[in-house]
Amino acid sequence: MHDGTRVVRAGRPQPAQGEPFLPGPCFAATYHLSGDPSTAANTYGRSQNPTWTLYENAIGELESGIAIAFASGMGAVAAIFGSVLRPGDVLILPTDGYYTARLLAEGFFTSMGVKVRLAPTARNAQSDFLAGAKLLWLETPSNPGLEVCDIAELCEKAHRVGALVAVDNTTPTMLGQRPLDLGADFSIASDTKALLGHSDLLMGHVAVRDPAWAKKLITWRTQIGSIPGPMEVWLAHRSLATLDLRLERMNANALAIAQFLCGRSEVKRVRYPGLPNDPSHGIAVKQMTRFGPILSFEFPGRTEAERWLSNCKLVDEATSFGSVHTTAERRARWGADQVAEGFIRFSAGCEHIDDLIADMTRAFEE
Ligand SMILES: *Cc1c(COP(=O)(O)O)cnc(C)c1O
Repeated sequence: MHDGTRVVRAGRPQPAQGEPFLPGPCFAATYHLSGDPSTAANTYGRSQNPTWTLYENAIGELESGIAIAFASGMGAVAAIFGSVLRPGDVLILPTDGYYTARLLAEGFFTSMGVKVRLAPTARNAQSDFLAGAKLLWLETPSNPGLEVCDIAELCEKAHRVGALVAVDNTTPTMLGQRPLDLGADFSIASDTKALLGHSDLLMGHVAVRDPAWAKKLITWRTQIGSIPGPMEVWLAHRSLATLDLRLERMNANALAIAQFLCGRSEVKRVRYPGLPNDPSHGIAVKQMTRFGPILSFEFPGRTEAERWLSNCKLVDEATSFGSVHTTAERRARWGADQVAEGFIRFSAGCEHIDDLIADMTRAFEE
């Protein structure tokens, strides 16, 4: 079945006379529960919720695994770190990956005795640090640098030395890249971004094939309490139905914008894994079926970048990415990533490409 059909049907209950296509959110802290609690599907709102189950079935179908939903992407990151890492364990993170995951590892988990090794995503550099590692953490394409590493090759090398592998798959989503099929033990994503895609929800998930890991992750979620609200999960499930449509438009827009920017003398270093001459393209075509909504480029400096961003009317200045709304930001304003002052991370939305190009052209020339 094609992606467009799979996302519409994913996790929906069997048709039943007089029942809705997607049952509404189940708001429950407690459930009626008499006698032996082990006979009940739902015992308490932090442990189970039928709205989560439908959404997790959907994500599980799309990932071909067992999915566990969390209150945010960081909730999902923390669940893997917390379930896997013990004092003395070595975690290998990308230097150019998502900033808050690095902060959590280097702050809390380092103080608990975990050792963190950092290496860049490009050229599979993380593979040089595998000896004695417990967990290899990949993020490909990396955010915001858009470097790509070879998931299958790194999984094979990691497994050979007994390390587990997690892939942060936020940027492409499971429709663009399938980490579990490529050998990863954990496929993790911030569903806040392209998966849900409307700039209005925070959620995350982890998908695994091994039921023992699923159990550990659920135990973590129940005991830590990083649970998503039923209303958010219901909206998430609703948003999922248009994922294929949204990605098709966003990814086509991203490629067209990258090509447009390559022809503008005001900017340089346009990066998009879907550009045939991009340094990431060779590995990207091997493991990605769509190249995602994010691209990046550089103005000579901060002033030029800020002027262009404020001139754009259809490109909203905002952090985050993957929404129906086209957004961009000057990443150096956060002081967290190793990027130039004029570096722009750009997320293509679902607007008509002609309007976006016209707006950006005017913003360059104003
Ligand atoms: C945003 C993001 C996260 C964190 O997700 P939240 O939903 O903001 O908690 C993790 N990884 C990547 C790659 C992200 O872009």
